[in-house]
Amino acid sequence: MYIVLLGPPGSGKGTQGQMLSTKLNIPHLSTGDLFREILDNPKHELYESLQVIKEGKLVSDDVVNKVVGGSLRDPRFEDGIIFDGYPRTIAQAQALDQELESIGKAVDVVIDIHVTKEVLLGRLLGRRSCPNCKRIFHVSQGISECPDCQITLIQRPDDNEETILERFDEYQTKTAPLQEYYRQSRTNYIVIKVFESSRTADSVQQEVWDRLYGLGLVK
Ligand SMILES: [Zn+2]
Repeated sequence: MYIVLLGPPGSGKGTQGQMLSTKLNIPHLSTGDLFREILDNPKHELYESLQVIKEGKLVSDDVVNKVVGGSLRDPRFEDGIIFDGYPRTIAQAQALDQELESIGKAVDVVIDIHVTKEVLLGRLLGRRSCPNCKRIFHVSQGISECPDCQITLIQRPDDNEETILERFDEYQTKTAPLQEYYRQSRTNYIVIKVFESSRTADSVQQEVWDRLYGLGLVK
């Protein structure tokens, strides 16, 4: 099964992707993971094309599409992929459709997680992370030290209200055409609304699962 996850930073889509990955036994994949893998392998044909990452530049649609296209033919991913952070543009969505079509597959479902600004702010302003192992915590857990590293947790500088709202608006603007693209195609499209900050990841996952069940995609 090929799943595309949409949702702004802080929507919990990464967590949902991981949970689905475990349940469905399908890899949860971000393009960042794929890029890192290639950058560790100087013999890879796209190694040179990805050097722009080290300069802090964006990877072109063309190269992203080649990376993803290659992974679709990788035996590790033959049962499907849960895409996280890809596609980001219509050009990427079209390329993904074409690549999947060429192997007789298609995007089975798009899961679009909607969150309110209030929920995002509550989550992200309370986010604390371990400077050593990068594990993420939340102030509501009442922990001030990383249990593994015994180091005081910190708040990341970009987790402030202004930056969070900027990222949210940027996400909305950039993703709107993509949402439109998938809504107009015949792809199954699920919207999950997370409008209460007390909502747990388990409850969101249950809703995702129920909706997938309703579409006949899971048993
Ligand atoms: Zn730690």
